[in-house]
Amino acid sequence: MKTSTVLTLITATLIASGGTGPSLARQLRVVATTPDLAALAREIGGDAVAVTALGKPTEDQHYVDAKPSHIVTLNRADVLIEGGAELEIGWLPPLLASARNDRIAAGAPGRIVASQGIRMLDVPATFDRSKGDLHALGNPHFLLDPLNVKVIVAQLADHFAQVDPQAADLFQANLNRFVAALDAKLAEWQAQLAPFHGARIVTYHNDFVYLAERFQLQVIETLEPKPGIAPSPAHLARVISTMRAANARVILVQPYQNRRTAETVARQTNAVVLDIAQQPGALDHTDTYFELMDHMVRTLVAALQETK
Ligand SMILES: [Zn+2]
Repeated sequence: MKTSTVLTLITATLIASGGTGPSLARQLRVVATTPDLAALAREIGGDAVAVTALGKPTEDQHYVDAKPSHIVTLNRADVLIEGGAELEIGWLPPLLASARNDRIAAGAPGRIVASQGIRMLDVPATFDRSKGDLHALGNPHFLLDPLNVKVIVAQLADHFAQVDPQAADLFQANLNRFVAALDAKLAEWQAQLAPFHGARIVTYHNDFVYLAERFQLQVIETLEPKPGIAPSPAHLARVISTMRAANARVILVQPYQNRRTAETVARQTNAVVLDIAQQPGALDHTDTYFELMDHMVRTLVAALQETK
């Protein structure tokens, strides 16, 4: 039986057993597709929201494992935040179709698409979906640029206030506080990475380009030949030769990516493999956006220093 059919059958029962009506004398039920968006929603929503993330921190957000419980969560949501730019195209549409919730329908105040208002990088001139490429509308991993986060949190405060006008002042105050803190942190992170401007790094998937642009690093190769395409021996041979020529000696790997492939390349290039995560909660002490970015910058600085 198709996964979507199984999900529909199981959740019809689950949804029938639970209440679905909105009543705003309670916390807004906010659902985010990914843990990083959920972390931002908690910052802006504060006590007025209850936030759930569908994807797990250690999961590849392109391939979240769709579960019947996700449909129930979406059915009861007042607000849905998605990354957009097709990040979730492989798993979110069937869940939404089964959830049947007009409050989070496209265009409703309860539907937030984070990529709206973001200047997308890596927008392909031509695109062939049949080859398995994942970044059809540009690179959807844009939360590593704090300036993009500023755009997104403003959008969150705006939509939250439309859905729950009584808490509008709270959302605005949380937004102001978060943005002030983010400005201060950005200056700190830029100072920490300033000695490494122009440093060459390699990543597994093409998921660090926004970080590289903001902090003036260069992603010179990815182990995947294209986003979503598994590394081939011929491609890795090219990567190794590029890394040697450029003296690039740091390879970034996320928890769900194939570390052994990175280790193989690292052995032949005298590089270090850096365990790093973009999702809050995937590593210890990274539950908020600030903790996550602090950890990332600190880890990167240490590795770049070691291989300088
Ligand atoms: Zn991607």
